[in-house]
Amino acid sequence: MQQLVFATNNTHKLEEIADKIAGKIQLLSLNDIGCFDDIAETGATFSENAAIKSHYIFNKYKLNCFGDDSGLEIDALNGEPGVYSARYAGKHGDHGANIRKVLERLKHADNRTARFHTVISLIWDGKEHFFEGTVEGIIRNELSGTAGFGYDPIFQPLGYAVTFAEMTLAEKNSISHRAKAVDKMIEFLNAV
Ligand code: IMP
Repeated sequence: MQQLVFATNNTHKLEEIADKIAGKIQLLSLNDIGCFDDIAETGATFSENAAIKSHYIFNKYKLNCFGDDSGLEIDALNGEPGVYSARYAGKHGDHGANIRKVLERLKHADNRTARFHTVISLIWDGKEHFFEGTVEGIIRNELSGTAGFGYDPIFQPLGYAVTFAEMTLAEKNSISHRAKAVDKMIEFLNAV
């Protein structure tokens, strides 16, 4: 079976994707290939960050691999937090502080439109391919729901009356930015 390295150790992401490509391709994490390096996400765009990860792994291990990067783009904040989504309030992964900062900055904003955006950079047989996924929505005034992670409690996808944090994981995965990008990559892999 062919192998594919996902340049992450995020077990949640690994499970989600392994499930979708089960039986066709063996998915490996950074731990699986013995890579414990800290790959710095210094890019100015999601594409750059995704490519930093895939290129790093390909250059070092010469294996088929992909990297991903995601974030929230809020129109009234000119696309912020964008690539800074994980560390918008300063500390990496402090989701509570990140949400407080967003709500504070949107206090007087009438335009609440936003989207989650994912970019995947796949290197397959030495060639790079990009796959994207977005989900449009609005930023609520207050938090609602406890499921999910990150900005889920304040993000209400278009066409729904609930936030991502009020959905089951399966519901969120059926419409999420990440799922859309992953599905496009899997469609490509199924055809090679
Ligand atoms: P990552 O590149 O997928 O690790 O995402 C970077 C950051 O974007 C996360 O730490 C979150 O703050 C935000 N983010 C990405 N995807 C989601 C999501 O599905 N829900 C909520 N926040 C997300």
